[in-house]
Amino acid sequence: MLKNCDVCGKVFAHPARSLCEECYRKAQARFQAVKEYLQKNPGATVAEVSEATETDVDVIYEYIREGRLSVIPRDAALKCEICGAVIQKGRICHKCLGELEEIAHRSKDDDDSRVRYLDQIKRRR
Ligand SMILES: [Zn+2]
Ligand SMILES: [Zn+2]
Repeated sequence: MLKNCDVCGKVFAHPARSLCEECYRKAQARFQAVKEYLQKNPGATVAEVSEATETDVDVIYEYIREGRLSVIPRDAALKCEICGAVIQKGRICHKCLGELEEIAHRSKDDDDSRVRYLDQIKRRR
């Protein structure tokens, strides 16, 4: 199956990956660099990590959001997108997630209001 690399647009074949071999390796190396830098410098800030590893701040936040870093930058606390509580990973805190599930459950027969509610959340980003 041929597809275009998400990063460079090159055509490549791989069943699962969305990056070509070269970009995939680069992405892996970059992640390793960020991870290792943080392990050696646990108190580093996002800006310091970004500069030391030449990695975009956005990319570092992406790693944090995905929960891939065991040590996260000192000032990189993620916030719940609904209530603003500090969270370790993901986008929404446990409390809000619970509430969302409850709403989803409650409005099972009412798909319309569920979709509308999820729309509202998305728009708050
Ligand atoms: Zn590529
Ligand atoms: Zn919340």
